[in-house]
Amino acid sequence: TRQIVLASRPHGAPTAENFRLEEVDLPEPDEGQVLVRNSIMSVDPYMRGRMNDVKSYVPPFQVDAPLDGGAVGEVIASRSADVPVGAHVLHGLGWREHLVVSAAKVTVIDTDAAPASRYLGLLGMTGLTAYVGLTAIAQLREGDTVFVSGAAGAVGQSVGQIAKALGAARVVGSAGSPAKIERLLELGYDAAFNYKETSVRDGLREVAPDGIDVYFDNVGGDHLEAAIGHLNKFGRVAMCGAISQYNATEPAPGPRNLFQAIGKGLTLRGFIVGQYPELAEEYRAKASGWLADGQLVGDETFRDGLEGAPQAFMDLLEGANTGKMLVRL
Ligand code: NDP
Repeated sequence: TRQIVLASRPHGAPTAENFRLEEVDLPEPDEGQVLVRNSIMSVDPYMRGRMNDVKSYVPPFQVDAPLDGGAVGEVIASRSADVPVGAHVLHGLGWREHLVVSAAKVTVIDTDAAPASRYLGLLGMTGLTAYVGLTAIAQLREGDTVFVSGAAGAVGQSVGQIAKALGAARVVGSAGSPAKIERLLELGYDAAFNYKETSVRDGLREVAPDGIDVYFDNVGGDHLEAAIGHLNKFGRVAMCGAISQYNATEPAPGPRNLFQAIGKGLTLRGFIVGQYPELAEEYRAKASGWLADGQLVGDETFRDGLEGAPQAFMDLLEGANTGKMLVRL
């Protein structure tokens, strides 16, 4: 079977040389293990951080070892009574076509209830990230105006729609192309601007003339600085990601106007979705309802073949995706 290994650590933006496709032998499953054929794998911005040799909330990838990440697949051989052949499972061993794993490490998913890809997006980590950020972190209140950066991405698309479902009065966003802006308006964003055509500061003034109460930050950098300047008194920031800085080779400067947090009484709070497992069930119940009645819609951008996964990941960092970026294996 085939897998992708980290050939070398990227300096700045990753390139094809940082990845290598390898052929490896598969062991037979032992008692309690299953053999899975992966069907879809996720590529995610956080993987860029794991390519650096630094301590973080997840251990770094090792050079010459296979990459990993969220994936779904079908069990094709089983030595576990709990997870039979034919079961569709969610697990953390993407970037490979097959895997042998303990049955305790996979979650059986119901592909009649929703397509397998959904468990890597709206019904998985992506949707939960949006929900945790808006509720536990930003303490969203009815009537709030919410600003979302990276709004046309996987998390960002969910944030706008979930904020509306939870009672936000106005939801505005930024993204990097005219097509993405158009899509955001179709998805229920009240207004959106292209940060490549206007400064974030000017864009915000235009889409939210009365200021913002919540900023859901996927981008950091200029976006965070402009949002701090535009937040209303007692505004709240959910610090979810800082993708504008993931390829940086030097430490990036902080927001120059951070002191405004004092006078405005702002709260800036970071989070990792995995720190809030107690919200997963509550979210899934709500998300199923929102999906069923059409309040929550998520685009998916598919690429094909394991050999295409590195390019899919590189393209994700450059904004080639609308909604969730996935690779069909
Ligand atoms: P996305 O689907 O949003 O893909 C990344 C997007 O980032 C691209 O499509 C691109 O869109 C945008 N982007 C890339 N470079 C820049 C830049 N310099 N400035 C502004 N936008 C840029 O990925 P996810 O939805 O998976 O993740 C979104 C964010 O959420 C990331 O920061 C990620 O790290 C974070 N995250 C955090 C989690 C947590 O637990 N805290 C969990 C999951 C994700 P465009 O065309 O608009 O530039």
